[in-house]
Amino acid sequence: MFLSAAPRTACVFGFPGQGFLKCIGTRLSHAQAACRDILQGELEGMKAAGTWKYEHVITSKQGVTIRVEGQQASVLNFCANNYLGLSSHPEVVQAGKDALDKYGAGLSSVRFICGTQTIHKELEEKIAKFHSREDSILYASCFDANAGLFEILLTPQDAVLSDALNHASIIDGIRLCKARKAKYQHKNMQDLEAKLQEVKDARMKLIVTDGVFSMDGNVAPLPEICALAEKYNAMVFIDECHATGFFGKTGRGTEEHFGLQPGKVDIINSTLGKALGGAAGGYTTGPKELISLLRQRARPYLFSNSLPPPVVACASKVFDLLLGSSGYAEKVQASTDRFRSQMTDAGFIIAGENHPICPVMLGDARLATVFADQMLERGIFVIGFSFPVVPKGTARIRVQISASHTFEEVDRTVEAFKQVGKNLGVIN
Ligand code: PLP
Repeated sequence: MFLSAAPRTACVFGFPGQGFLKCIGTRLSHAQAACRDILQGELEGMKAAGTWKYEHVITSKQGVTIRVEGQQASVLNFCANNYLGLSSHPEVVQAGKDALDKYGAGLSSVRFICGTQTIHKELEEKIAKFHSREDSILYASCFDANAGLFEILLTPQDAVLSDALNHASIIDGIRLCKARKAKYQHKNMQDLEAKLQEVKDARMKLIVTDGVFSMDGNVAPLPEICALAEKYNAMVFIDECHATGFFGKTGRGTEEHFGLQPGKVDIINSTLGKALGGAAGGYTTGPKELISLLRQRARPYLFSNSLPPPVVACASKVFDLLLGSSGYAEKVQASTDRFRSQMTDAGFIIAGENHPICPVMLGDARLATVFADQMLERGIFVIGFSFPVVPKGTARIRVQISASHTFEEVDRTVEAFKQVGKNLGVIN
C-alpha cells in the first residue's frame, strides 16, 4: 500500500535526505506535525469562540439576485460592496471582454518594466479627472495603495495622526513608515487637536482617516478635520473605499458629502473593487509630485504585477458611466433613506449616518448568526459580523444598499427583518 511503500523522494517542506520523515501522502516531518498541531489548536479555538468565518459559495455572477450553494432558489443580495450595481453591468462586462481580446490576459510584468499599456494611463487620467486631482497611480488593490503610501511620504522628521478605527490596511501601511505616530480616539476632535499639539514641531504632519468607516457606516468629521489641519499646518489623507462613486450628490465622496471644495483633502486612496465595477485594483490620487515619487519608490507598485487589462477596462468603463451621469448616487441614496427609515420605524437600531452601509445592531454574536441564517431561509442574503471584526457585544448584520435594489426589494427585505426580528425577540 502507498503509505507503507518505499520512501518518496520529494517532500513539500524540504528536500530528501535532510532528516525529514516522509510527507506527500506518507508521514509528516516532525516540524510539519508540530506546526499542524499548533494551527489546529488556533482553528479550534476560533470555532469554540464563535468567531469562525464561514464562506458561502456563490454559483452565479455578482448582482442583486444571486445563487448561493445549498439554496434551492435565487436570493436577494444585501451584503455586497456593489454600491452602484455595476459589477455585472453589460457595458462594463463587454469592456472587459474587448480588452481581453485586444490587450490580452495580463502583462507578465510590473509597470516600469513592460507593464504599462495605454489603458493604464487612460484610467489614471480618468481617476484624477473624476476626483479633480493632478494625477493618480494604480495599484493591484487599495490594500496595496495604503501599504505603499506612508512609508514613502513620511520620514522620522514627520508625524502621522491616525483615527483609532481606521481600516487594517491603513494601520499596516502606517506601521511600515518611520514617522512619529499618534492614534486619536475615533472621530474625537479634541483628542486629534491634543495629538496635533504634541507633534507641532514635526516637518510634515498627516492626518489619516477613513472617509466612511465600513463597520459602522459612520462618516469622518471632515470639515472639522480640515479646520484643524489648517490650524496646525497639517495635511489630510482619506481612504474613500466606501464613498467613491456613490457618496455625495454626484458620488465624488466624503468631501462632496460635506460640501467641501474638491482638493480640500490632500491625498485620496480608494478601491476599484467595490462600487467601481468590483473587479480589483486601487489607487492614490493627489499632487503630481507625490504620484511621481510613488511611481519611483512605492514597493507594492514597483514589485507587483500590473493590473490585468480586462480589470483596467472594466473600471475605465465605470468611470465613463460616472463621468456621464450622477443618477447612480441619487438612486442608492433614495433606497438607503427608505431602508433606514422603515427599519427604524419597525424598532431596529441602525448604526451609522445616512450611508448605504446600514448596520442592524443586535449585540450578541450568536444572535447575529442565527438572524442571518433565518434571513437566508427567507431568500435574503445578509451576513452577521461579530468579534474580532467588530468589538465584543456589538454584533450586527451589516446591510449594504445598492443602486440596483428596487424599492420593492428593499421593502421585501425590511419585511423579512421584521418577521425574523419578532421570531427572535429583537423587536416587538
Ligand atoms: N480600505 C477600506 C476602508 C476597505 O474597506 C478596504 C476593503 O475592504 C480596503 C481599504 C482594501 O481595498 P481592496 O479590496 O481594494 O484591497
